[in-house]
Amino acid sequence: MEHSVEFSEYPVNDLMYITNRPPLVFTEGDGMWMTDHAGKRYLDYLQGWAVNALGHSPQCIQDALLAQSKKILNPSPAFYNAPSIELAGLLTANSCFDRVFFTNSGAEANEGAIKLARKWGKKNPNPAGQHRFEIITFNHSFHGRTLATMSASGKPGWDTIFAPQVPGFPKAELNDLASVERLINDKTVAVMLEPVQGESGVIPASREFMQGLRELTKQRGILLIVDEVQSGMGRTGELFAYQLSGITPDIMTLGKGIGGGVPLAALLAREEIACFEAGDQGGTYNGNPLMTAVGVAVIKTLLAPGFLQSVKDKGAYLSSELLKLTAKHGLEGERGEGLLRALKLGKDIGPQIVDVARDLNPVGLLLNSPRPNLLRFMPALNVTIAEIDQMIAMLSDVLSKLEK
Ligand SMILES: *Cc1c(COP(=O)(O)O)cnc(C)c1O
Repeated sequence: MEHSVEFSEYPVNDLMYITNRPPLVFTEGDGMWMTDHAGKRYLDYLQGWAVNALGHSPQCIQDALLAQSKKILNPSPAFYNAPSIELAGLLTANSCFDRVFFTNSGAEANEGAIKLARKWGKKNPNPAGQHRFEIITFNHSFHGRTLATMSASGKPGWDTIFAPQVPGFPKAELNDLASVERLINDKTVAVMLEPVQGESGVIPASREFMQGLRELTKQRGILLIVDEVQSGMGRTGELFAYQLSGITPDIMTLGKGIGGGVPLAALLAREEIACFEAGDQGGTYNGNPLMTAVGVAVIKTLLAPGFLQSVKDKGAYLSSELLKLTAKHGLEGERGEGLLRALKLGKDIGPQIVDVARDLNPVGLLLNSPRPNLLRFMPALNVTIAEIDQMIAMLSDVLSKLEK
C-alpha cells in the first residue's frame, strides 16, 4: 500500500503555527473526494474553501497546466502573454466590466480595488479640492488578510490584532441603507461589500439593498465595489452574484473559483474607473500564463450551455434537502444562493459536528462551521445529486449521534 505512513512520521512542526489542524495529511483529490495519508477517503464539502469550482484536480485543469507548462511559464509582467489576454476577454465579454488586472489571491485583488478607488478619488476630488479616500465597508465582512484588507473587514477583533489599522474604512450594517447613508461624507470615495457575506455565515445582501446601494452611490458620486472572491464564478448560479440584483457595479474582485484550485484572482473595473498610471500597480507573478491558462479552462466550463442552470438546480435541491434535515432534527433552517449555503443549527454544535463527521468510518465527511451555530456548504459546482444525498445521509447520522 502506498498509504502506509503514520501521521507521527510527518515533521509537521516545521510549518509555522497559524491554526489548529486535525492530524491528517491529504495526499490525493478527485472531484468531490479527498484521500488522507492513511488511505481513508472523505466527501469534501469545503473544496479548498470554495476554491475548487470543478472539484479536485479536474481533467481540464490538468490538461491546461500540462499544455501551458510546455509552452511558457512566465515571460514577466513587463510583456503580454496569450492566456491572460484570452481570460481578460472572456471576463469582460461576460460581465459589465471593461478592464482586468490579474492577481494571485483575493486579498491582493481587494488591495488593488482599494488602491484603484483611492486613485480615482484623487482624480475626482470633493468640491473643496481634497482627495476622497474613505471606503465604507460592513460589519462582519471579510476581505482578506493583508493589513488594508483586514482593516476593511468587519470581523470582530480584527481592529486590534495588528493595530494600528489602515485608516479609512468606516463600517455600516449589511441590508441597512440608512447605516451607509449616515457614513457618507466629503471624504467618501466608495462602498465595498460582498454580495453574499461568506465567512460570516452566508448572509446574502437583499436585492432591494443592492439596488438601493447602487442608486445611493450613483446619486452621491461614489463608487460601488463588489468583492466576489467567494460569490463570483458561478457559485450562486449566476456567473457573478451582482447579476442577481440586476445592478452594474463599478469595480469587482474575483478569486477562489476563478483558478479552480490554483492561485489566481482578478480586479475588474469599468473603463472610466480604470485610472491606474504606469507604475501604480503590478507584481512579479501577476497574470502569469500558467495560472491564467487554468482560468480560461475554468470559465469555459462554467459558460458551457446548461452549466450555470445546473448550479441553480443543484442549489435548489441542496436547499430543499437541508430543509428536510431541519424538520427531521429540529434545526432552524437554511439560507444562501446557489451552491453557497448555510444550515442554521439553533445551538453551538457546529465544531462538534465537523469533528464527528470527519471521523466517520469507513469514509469521512468534511464540513465547515464558520460560526458555532451553523454549517457552510461550498461543494464543487459540478457536484452530483448522489453526492448531495450521500452528504445529507451522513450529516443526518452525525446529528442523530449527537442527539443521544
Ligand atoms: C476568501 C476571501 C477573500 C480573500 O481571498 P484570499 O485568496 O484568501 O486572499 C476575500 N474576500 C472574500 C469575500 C473571500 O471569501
